[in-house]
Amino acid sequence: MAINWIESEIIEHVRWTDVLASLKFKGDVLPYTAGQFTKVGLKIDGELISRPYSYVSSPNEDFLEIIYVNVPDGVLTPKLHDLKVGDKLFTMDKASGFFVMDEVPDGKNLWMLATGTGLGVFISLLKTSAPWERFDNIILVHGVRNHNELAYQEQISEFKKNNPSKFNYIQTVTRETKDDCLNLRIPAAIESKKLEELAGINITNDSQFMICGNPDMINDTVELLGKKGLERNRRSKPGNITLEKYW
Ligand code: NAP
Repeated sequence: MAINWIESEIIEHVRWTDVLASLKFKGDVLPYTAGQFTKVGLKIDGELISRPYSYVSSPNEDFLEIIYVNVPDGVLTPKLHDLKVGDKLFTMDKASGFFVMDEVPDGKNLWMLATGTGLGVFISLLKTSAPWERFDNIILVHGVRNHNELAYQEQISEFKKNNPSKFNYIQTVTRETKDDCLNLRIPAAIESKKLEELAGINITNDSQFMICGNPDMINDTVELLGKKGLERNRRSKPGNITLEKYW
């Protein structure tokens, strides 16, 4: 199917670290659902080069947003990294993907596990009312290499302020030691029961898991949760684990 590309204008470029950044832009795209991804691209040597990115923005906002890591020898991201306010990029008009709340079965606790830029899709989802209305407890876990990659702190504080009794945010940093953070990869934090301890919630089948980020983290986490009797959620057979792999 032919892709319709929408020319979109950069309105903000936030640099979290030297290589981690978010782009906000305005584009007349079709309505999308929180949790979906689009493709973002630039014309490079006459050819439109694009990559998939989940929206960090939420459907009720009047701008679009993605988060990315600049890979210096990559084709697209060094060019994205140079973009300034007023510059243009191309966005696919129609978003896709099934990492959306309607695909997640009901439960008591919603665990959102992210590594790196995988956090972005959860920011989008948490800006909508559905997770807050459907779950008693929401536990957002973000795993990064270094603490300066713990992006969206202000937005996360707002989630906490608006939902003090329902929301738990757990940070884990793996390549340095930092106060108020775990220093474990997410699967190790589950295996050691540290996550359950910090959240004050036992992982049982009244928990739903949404997991996004490094595919090896996802595989190891799914295996560990499998030992606790939790299985992948599929349309044909609902389960407790809904996934989005980033590469
Ligand atoms: P990442 O490499 O996936 O690391 C994010 C977090 O996931 C880290 O805490 C990491 O722990 C953890 N992790 C990695 N493999 C795992 C596994 N098998 N099981 C469980 N946890 C695991 O993501 P990223 O730092 O956002 O980087 C994404 C991409 O950008 C990568 O291809 C990377 O090479 C590239 N990049 C990143 C940086 C940067 O500064 N973050 C710089 C240049 C390029 P560990 O620390 O233990 O690996």
